[in-house]
Amino acid sequence: MSFSDMPVDVGPVYEGERIRSKQMYVELGGPKIEHHFELVKVREPGDIEDGKVNLVGPDLSDMEEGSRHPIGILVECAGEELEEDLEAVFERRVHEFCNFINGVMHLNQRYTNWLRVSKKAIEKGFNSFEQFGTILIRLFKAELPIIEKCQVSFYTDKDAIEEPYEMAMSTYEKRDERARGLHDSDVDMFYGCVLCQSFAPTHVCTITPDRTSLCGSINWFDARAAAKVDPKGPIYAVEPGECLNELAGEYTGVNEVTKKRSLGEVDKVYLYSGMEWPHTSCGCFEAIDFYIPEVNGHGIIDRNADHKAINGLAFSTMANQTGGGKQMPGFNGISLQYISSPKFQQYDAAQDGLEHGLEQTVWMNSGLKERVKEFIPEELRDLIATEKDASDMEELKAFLEEKNHPIVSTWEEEEEEEYEEYEEEGAMIPMGTQQMTVPGVGGGGGFRIILKNCKVHAESLIIKRIDTKKKRRKKK
Ligand code: SF4
Repeated sequence: MSFSDMPVDVGPVYEGERIRSKQMYVELGGPKIEHHFELVKVREPGDIEDGKVNLVGPDLSDMEEGSRHPIGILVECAGEELEEDLEAVFERRVHEFCNFINGVMHLNQRYTNWLRVSKKAIEKGFNSFEQFGTILIRLFKAELPIIEKCQVSFYTDKDAIEEPYEMAMSTYEKRDERARGLHDSDVDMFYGCVLCQSFAPTHVCTITPDRTSLCGSINWFDARAAAKVDPKGPIYAVEPGECLNELAGEYTGVNEVTKKRSLGEVDKVYLYSGMEWPHTSCGCFEAIDFYIPEVNGHGIIDRNADHKAINGLAFSTMANQTGGGKQMPGFNGISLQYISSPKFQQYDAAQDGLEHGLEQTVWMNSGLKERVKEFIPEELRDLIATEKDASDMEELKAFLEEKNHPIVSTWEEEEEEEYEEYEEEGAMIPMGTQQMTVPGVGGGGGFRIILKNCKVHAESLIIKRIDTKKKRRKKK
């Protein structure tokens, strides 16, 4: 496969390239544009003209510097071994292949896709969707040899994109609906995915019927189809093994595979918890489930929210905390489909005597709540606040009390903690030899840094003894 006829280089080395607003020539899709999507469809061979690129709307060369446009990317492919279940898996590769192009940045997936083309790429002559589509077609056919024929269509016109956008949305819903009918107890095989390790090297997705991948793009059926055609590829089968904790969703097989695939970084995962041994998050999650200590509840914000969450943090700020392939108790990247699962964060809910994760959900951004409202049990629907009901913690507490949200029954009675305090001025504490591990570097346990004969200087040393007996919980 050669790209020598292209004005820009193409290859995996450019994955991870960031194009900041000052470097950007044009933005396609993203949160400020109403309609955008990417979709892969399997077609009959006779319905495809191999190598053809269609464009409906203005070309890159017609777009003004600094402008934003709708973008629809429809990849149609055919091949003797292709089946519909592979569409979502191929679709996830659009992200990777776009990022192979020097001067193109692609984020997210499905209807949240967001691309930027750099000024430098345009200056070099990368100024047409014909070039863009030709690169995608060559990559799809080279990286996925079971694709025999491939054509790509781009939609950049604001009116013409509406019809294919609706077709894409109904395809996503059809896939999700099918997956909602299946549960973890119905299957004897789970699947894993490490496609995002190019961005988050220790991130390992476990895909089960009840826990769709956090990017929302790959459900259990899709992963099964991908593992069947390419068992040694980035999506693979995971024998669940022994169930160690049914409530938490802890399996020996998942722990073992996660440890191996995360290079020893993560060796224990609770599939149904965001608080203890949570599933790692890369950066592609559709939403973040976050703990709100002030009310002992959880909030969920999706990436379309254009305002701050109830904790005062924007999605992008929390995403930095959540992503990167680490286990971050209290910040968990999730798919919207997982919210519909009967197992949704059930372990965390059970710690407070509640049955389902949505019983501890106290806040969602209104756009997300509208989107997932059919998954929220009717009796809870009005009890979950949005930015329209509460703008700070005091208003949230008042809202929850007024609605008698189930979380109110878990609130601790406020009592002053008693403690003994000992303070010494200017303490100098000899620490001897201290060790710390820098995780995620060099595989295994990373590097170990040893500080020999170190001393820590503190202006004062305070020792507190907290009387924990004073803490009481009112349970339901
Ligand atoms: S989020 Fe998970 S399932 Fe989705 S592409 Fe990344 S690793 Fe694969």
